[in-house]
Amino acid sequence: MKRPRLVSLLAAAALAAASSAGASECLVITGAFVSDGSGRPLRRGSIRVCGEEIQAVGTFRPGREDRVVSGRGLVAAPGFIDIHNHSTDGLAEDPLAESQISQRITTLVVGADGESPWPLSEYLDARRQLSPPST
Ligand SMILES: [Zn+2]
Repeated sequence: MKRPRLVSLLAAAALAAASSAGASECLVITGAFVSDGSGRPLRRGSIRVCGEEIQAVGTFRPGREDRVVSGRGLVAAPGFIDIHNHSTDGLAEDPLAESQISQRITTLVVGADGESPWPLSEYLDARRQLSPPST
């Protein structure tokens, strides 16, 4: 059996969607082998990205307005979760988390070593002020 190429489609697809489509337009990657991080075997499916948000992962048909990209023969991972990192202070200097995004990480869990800023509400408020406006 021919093994699928390991390619992270999502980053390229999301960037393409963000750069050429409005927030209401969606991009659907179809027929890829989806790695969802659950530990389950790869399964064929689709991923819908609207603006900067992953809206669906699974088996569904693209809508008439969706841009469609074939993921046939490729593996798509709709974002990774970094559960152990030292990005608490780094997010102040890199509020767009470009370092993590370039590694296909979409979710960070900070404070993994038992440390966290205090008061936490001030830290979170500061991160929200530095974040790009949501669409
Ligand atoms: Zn650590």
